[in-house]
Amino acid sequence: MTKIQIDNSEKNIAVIGAGIIGINCALELQSLGFQVTLIDKSGIGEGCSKANAGHFATEQVFPLAEPSLIWKFPKLLLDPLGPVSLSASYLPKALPWFGRFIINMVASKRAKNSMALKTLNKNAIRYYQPLLQEAKAEKLLTLKGSLLVFENSSDESIKRQFTDYKNAGVEVLLLDRQQTLLLEPNLHRNIRASLYFTDVGHSIDPFAICTTLAELAFQKGCVFHQAEVLNISHNALGINLTTTNETLQFDEIVIASGAWSKKLLAPLGYNLPIEAERGYSLDLPPCKKEHQLSRPVASAERKFIMTPMRHGLRLAGTVEYAGLNKSANMKRADMLFKNAQHILTELPEYNPDDAKPSQKWMGHRPSMPDSLPVICQAPKHENIYLALGHQHLGLTQGAITGKIIGQLISKKETEIDIRPFSITRFN
Ligand SMILES: Cc1cc2nc3c(=O)[nH]c(=O)nc-3n(C[C@H](O)[C@H](O)[C@H](O)COP(=O)(O)OP(=O)(O)OC[C@H]3O[C@@H](n4cnc5c(N)ncnc54)[C@H](O)[C@@H]3O)c2cc1C
Repeated sequence: MTKIQIDNSEKNIAVIGAGIIGINCALELQSLGFQVTLIDKSGIGEGCSKANAGHFATEQVFPLAEPSLIWKFPKLLLDPLGPVSLSASYLPKALPWFGRFIINMVASKRAKNSMALKTLNKNAIRYYQPLLQEAKAEKLLTLKGSLLVFENSSDESIKRQFTDYKNAGVEVLLLDRQQTLLLEPNLHRNIRASLYFTDVGHSIDPFAICTTLAELAFQKGCVFHQAEVLNISHNALGINLTTTNETLQFDEIVIASGAWSKKLLAPLGYNLPIEAERGYSLDLPPCKKEHQLSRPVASAERKFIMTPMRHGLRLAGTVEYAGLNKSANMKRADMLFKNAQHILTELPEYNPDDAKPSQKWMGHRPSMPDSLPVICQAPKHENIYLALGHQHLGLTQGAITGKIIGQLISKKETEIDIRPFSITRFN
């Protein structure tokens, strides 16, 4: 019997969303020989992927829905500058998401979700390496591990967290104050201990990862359309995308539109409980060489991270639930500097009133209530694929997500079990 050879180049695929997830999907699909069009209402990497903390955080295998948070909820409402804040006016809209979030605190669900995160994170960095090599941009990924530092947590709590990571198979060392300061001499003496995640990495320029990988996809033939997709419809010939400019026809599409995905999926009959977890970053000029960090340092208590970047030091983090449309509260970015003063002995000078607008940034993390992304073929539409909802780990999980989408569209077996990432869990 003659085997029919399917030529991938005959298939036109659109990827909606040029964030780190869409870019990785577009690059993988174009490398597999498909004809790919990347579409975004803004530019390449201009959404949540623009100024994140650049941490390839493969150690983050625990879902965010943690039972102890229940008792902290009332405080969240009261402190607009706390590490996690919930705008009172947004509460009614966010309630259904929080309902699901609380359900995911159940121990059996946490264990299952943690297992799924582990499989996704396990080889996440390995999938980036050949891409960056091909783009001659290996310098954009540094493998020096990262630190989680503790100021006032009890010994018991620090040891418990260490054991939890160890039991989850994460490569981690428990360091005392002296050992921590040997690794990062600019840390404050009030740091009691740290967890050193030896296998993780960081990027000195996460935005450049977006533009570099997108450029590689374009060199291979992928094209970029700047337009907002307003509607998705399907007919016998494939999928029609109505955009702000025109109507475009494709054989298959990948929806990778981050925190904005709900609007595109609802008319297709899918319920997507996604919430924008707004996070902030603040860029500081370089410290003196002897004060520079070598790796990302996160604060366990203050819930933010400091990453050495090409341009200087980036402080990033915090979570704010206030939806997609409310303007940014840049006091939250300024607050990061105050936090850093407790963690570092020397910091570059910073005066919020003199800061350039480009130093402060807010991004909408696309977050699902169970902390798992949605990576699947749409169950009711065989030519629509979904790659969204990567919450705090979109940079980390970008390359593996692209790989999985490539395998799904090529009708190959996926390397990992992707059943936990199906949208059917919400429908
Ligand atoms: C402060 C902060 C720090 C972070 N630090 C890290 C970190 O250290 N490590 C890590 O792994 N992750 C980190 N993250 C999370 C990470 O940035 C996100 O998970 C990731 O950027 C999500 O990528 P995405 O491609 O799904 O979404 P986005 O980058 O938001 O891309 C979605 C794109 O879709 C486009 N779009 C939406 N709707 C439409 C439409 N209808 N038509 C056309 N285009 C559309 C948008 O314009 C956007 O460009 C951080 C996030 C924040 C906010």
